[in-house]
This record gives sequence, C-alpha cells and structure tokens, in this order.
Amino acid sequence: MAAGEASATVQMRLKQTDSKLLRAIEDAMTRIRQERFGTCEKCGQPISKARLEAVP
Ligand SMILES: [Zn+2]
Repeated sequence: MAAGEASATVQMRLKQTDSKLLRAIEDAMTRIRQERFGTCEKCGQPISKARLEAVP
C-alpha cells in the first residue's frame, strides 16, 4: 500500500529536521569557537587572527 510512501515522507522530514538541527549546532559551535579562541583561555587577552592561524 502507501506504507513505503509514508515512510519516505517521514524520512524526508527527518532529514530536513536534521539539517536544520545541524545548522543550528554548527552556528552555535562557530559562535563558541569564536568566543573561545578569540581570547586567551589563560589571561583572557584577545588573540590576533594571525596567531590563531599560526597556532591552531
Ligand atoms: Zn594569555
């Protein structure tokens, strides 16, 4: 019957939700990374991008 079709729809919806969720997680992680690596973890001083690139 339409079981396969319904399953495909559910899978498609799950994929859409997944990509939205992944996007949100990526955005959050990027923000965290910028906040975390934008300043020194030890003294809290801002770290220049050049230094960030030199010491990943
Ligand atoms: Zn420092």
